[in-house]
Amino acid sequence: MSTQRPPRSVRLLSRLRSSRLLPLLLRVDLRRLILGMSLLAVLVTFLNTFHAGYSQQRELLIRNTLDANQAYASKMAELTDVFLQQALSQLSFSAHVLGSNFDDVSLQTAETRRLVHQNKTFNSVLIVNADGKIVNITPPLTEVLGLQISSAGMLSAYQAREPRVSEPFVTSGTARLVIFISYPVYSQRGDFLGFIGGTVYLHEDNGLHSVLGRHHYQNGSYLFVVDRQGNLVFHANQQRVGENVMRNPVVQAVRRGETGSAQSENTRGTAMLSGYAPVSSTGWGVVVQRPTDLTLELLTQPVMDMLLKVAPLLMLTLLAIWFLTRLIANPLHDLAMIASRLDDADTERKIGKVPSWYYEVIKLKHAILAGLSLVQRKISRLNHENVTDPLTGLLNRRGMDDTLRALDEARLPFSVVVLDIDRFKSINDTHGHDVGDAVLRFLAERMRRTARSGDVLCRNGGDEFTMLLPGTPSNEAVHACERLAQALAIEEAYEGVPISLSMGVADFRLEDRHVEDALKAADVALYRAKQGGRNQIAVAERT
Ligand code: GH3
Ligand code: MG
Repeated sequence: MSTQRPPRSVRLLSRLRSSRLLPLLLRVDLRRLILGMSLLAVLVTFLNTFHAGYSQQRELLIRNTLDANQAYASKMAELTDVFLQQALSQLSFSAHVLGSNFDDVSLQTAETRRLVHQNKTFNSVLIVNADGKIVNITPPLTEVLGLQISSAGMLSAYQAREPRVSEPFVTSGTARLVIFISYPVYSQRGDFLGFIGGTVYLHEDNGLHSVLGRHHYQNGSYLFVVDRQGNLVFHANQQRVGENVMRNPVVQAVRRGETGSAQSENTRGTAMLSGYAPVSSTGWGVVVQRPTDLTLELLTQPVMDMLLKVAPLLMLTLLAIWFLTRLIANPLHDLAMIASRLDDADTERKIGKVPSWYYEVIKLKHAILAGLSLVQRKISRLNHENVTDPLTGLLNRRGMDDTLRALDEARLPFSVVVLDIDRFKSINDTHGHDVGDAVLRFLAERMRRTARSGDVLCRNGGDEFTMLLPGTPSNEAVHACERLAQALAIEEAYEGVPISLSMGVADFRLEDRHVEDALKAADVALYRAKQGGRNQIAVAERT
């Protein structure tokens, strides 16, 4: 008996069998592996390309929006400048007219009315004399005539005695938020006579609106103007005019006189794409903004279009992968199936039919065929006279041992059945030794008839026989036993001599160490069958 360590491959196999991974691994075959890996590669490539394309489009859209907003802010800052310059030049013209005849009330009224009604630059126009008293106003508010000016914007205009655009301030009389644009009036001799000034009501329709209100408020885009302190002078939402938005980093930048664009958050925490430019004459700033989210929504449609365009090609690629995977994996799969049933009669024909269109399959086919013929040659060599039992023509004990060794060398799994005639001694005793011999031959004949082509049949001695069934698991070996028992039972007796068998079945698997162990296990099972009352099949229990 061998005490050698089993080969490494056998040890690995037995470790694999005891592992919990086995059920999982059995479900993973080459086809699934190739398919899975190819799909993964295709999907990763697709997602990567898609992501790169999307990021590029996103960057481009953001850049374009920022550039457009900056250009628009610059344009609007210029227009605001032009508006203020025009307002000052209108006032300058009236100041000249009034310089020659300042105290002429009808002239004053004509000028203030003309300035208010000629175009929509001013909401109201008033004239203040050198004492700081209001001497004329349109629309006519008689209650303020003769009053001393007191609001900040007007006082600074009065003191400066030069053309001026005020910061926004709240008027003392009507409590309106306004800006005041004023021009001093000098006599022809150069004496300061007072000033003429127009108010722009920031919370109502005014000249600034006619300039800045042209902006199209699409896709959440809007525009606002801040003064030097960061107060809103103009905003799409008029309610917000007067609010201080200095916290907004974009406002801080434009207040420093910078022109540019930025991604930032507005004072309400919304991410914005902003362009900004200063109004050079007043130090105000124009900001054009569009929410980043709303801008990026524009990408949704092109992305959907792209997906639709790519989808057919992607489907074709997946289909091609599936087809190629089958083409590659099927021959190997077929060979694996054939290798697990080498005892089949037409194994060679089946191997021949496996399409071998690439190197590995050709080699594997050769290897399996070579292995198969080696085992067959070895087994057939054993069918020699000196290994044959003369009485039955089956292999004798020696023949059986040789067969077992061949199976061990080939590492071919097999089942072993040890069978023994029940109460044979009494047959001999009752009918004589010759009848006993005939019964033994009769049984051998029945064994041959029910056996399959690859099965090896032996007589161990006396009334004990062994069947070796290569490539057959023990459950199928039990079927073979049942077939034999039936074949005996149908005839019920040999020439009136009833024959029944007790059979022990065991199997030898690749992870098992010695073939002899299988034989012993079958012997033990046979003993159990005898003990259990004979005429039955017992299968060896595996530990
Ligand atoms: P069990 O059911 O327990 O097997 O009872 P058994 O009577 O069959 O007992 P056992 O197997 O021990 O008996 C075997 C008998 O077979 C003993 C021997 O006389 C007989 N025998 C051995 N070789 C031959 C042979 O070549 N020809 C004949 N006719 N009888 C043989
Ligand atoms: Mg017996």
